[in-house]
Amino acid sequence: MADTSLTPVDEAIALLLNQAKPLTDTETISLQQALHRVLAQDIRVPADVPPADNSAVDGYAVRLADLAAGQPLPVRTRIAAGQAPEALATGTAARIFTGSEVPAGADAVIMQEQAMLEDGTVSTTAKPSAGQNIRRRGQDLRRGDTALARGTRLRPQELGLIGSLGMAQVPVIRRLRVAVLTTGDELVEPGQPLAAGQIYNSNRFTLLGLLAEAGCDVVLCQRVADSRLQTEQALTQAARDADLIITSGGVSVGEEDHVRAVLEQQGELTLWRLAIKPGKPLAFGQFNNTPLLGLPGNPAAVLVTGLMVALPYIQRCQGRHRRPLNGQPLPAGFDSPRPSIRREYVRARLEHRDGLTRIAAYPNQSSGMLSSACWADGLAVIPEHTAISTGDTIVYYSFAELLD
Ligand code: AMP
Ligand code: MG
Repeated sequence: MADTSLTPVDEAIALLLNQAKPLTDTETISLQQALHRVLAQDIRVPADVPPADNSAVDGYAVRLADLAAGQPLPVRTRIAAGQAPEALATGTAARIFTGSEVPAGADAVIMQEQAMLEDGTVSTTAKPSAGQNIRRRGQDLRRGDTALARGTRLRPQELGLIGSLGMAQVPVIRRLRVAVLTTGDELVEPGQPLAAGQIYNSNRFTLLGLLAEAGCDVVLCQRVADSRLQTEQALTQAARDADLIITSGGVSVGEEDHVRAVLEQQGELTLWRLAIKPGKPLAFGQFNNTPLLGLPGNPAAVLVTGLMVALPYIQRCQGRHRRPLNGQPLPAGFDSPRPSIRREYVRARLEHRDGLTRIAAYPNQSSGMLSSACWADGLAVIPEHTAISTGDTIVYYSFAELLD
């Protein structure tokens, strides 16, 4: 097949996102277990956070009108954190601590560092303004507001925010069940001896790592021989157990590439061969009504297509909001003189020298090499039909952003 039949990356991703069926099954789990899960409902604020005005500093709560008189104020009460204070008596100050509720009547807190204490009275040369050092009730969240939207992936800060609302349980979308099939007669599992002609199965671990980062539930992980029958059997079981099947290898043009062949003849092959480098032989379709993403066999291509193609699709299936990627435009620190019909994702990292940040590319970008990806911190994009010279601006995505 001529290279002109390759589907452009953006078109392929748009097609995948369009076909993705977001999960709707929900479960309610303990907040403590909810890291990286996806919210199944909007979270409404049941009561103001914080629930009352409180002090931002250690110091003295006062009425500004009393201070204006210029006299030191007797410190009559002491309000520790956790106490419900009485109203501040006119003409007095209250000793107060960070997080303590501000007593009714007080309209500023003098910072301890700006207070002068003498014989049980307090005064200040600084002129506090109204509301100074007071954290207002509801300044974080107001009752009735939507704190977090359905589809939000819960990071540590979202967990904390939900906790601040007093919720111990949280409604989340159930985990996406994924089956991982690595194909190839040459593959041997790590831990086993290697005979001539064999290589270790590395894709299995790259894929399991990616899926763990994405919060998926891997329900089946199996090596599949290069045989029509075994491919059919494995796909049948995978389609029964999983929401999504991910395969590696066996989607190229050789006669031992059974995944593509089985899909074509017994399932549905929607997409095959992308204008992407590395990773051209990528397939998407269905087997027994279960979607299948057929990733290439080459290890670096698995990582690149896993991050750039599979992850956005997985996230859509998980019910997550579409996450717009914010690649950084930065000068290339390398040349790529030959324009290609394929978009290239270069294993790269940032180099800071003489006050300048540039994108450095690993010298060998072979799709079979994982060492390039381990050296790298991200992927730089060489657009289709484009030659790159050192200094040209291109887009860089860090692995951290891609996996977020
Ligand atoms: P294929 O697409 O099946 O022809 O595989 C392309 C290349 O990737 C071949 O060199 C395979 O040996 C290699 N490969 C396929 N699957 C794996 C795997 N699970 N781990 C490591 N290398 C693999
Ligand atoms: Mg193979």
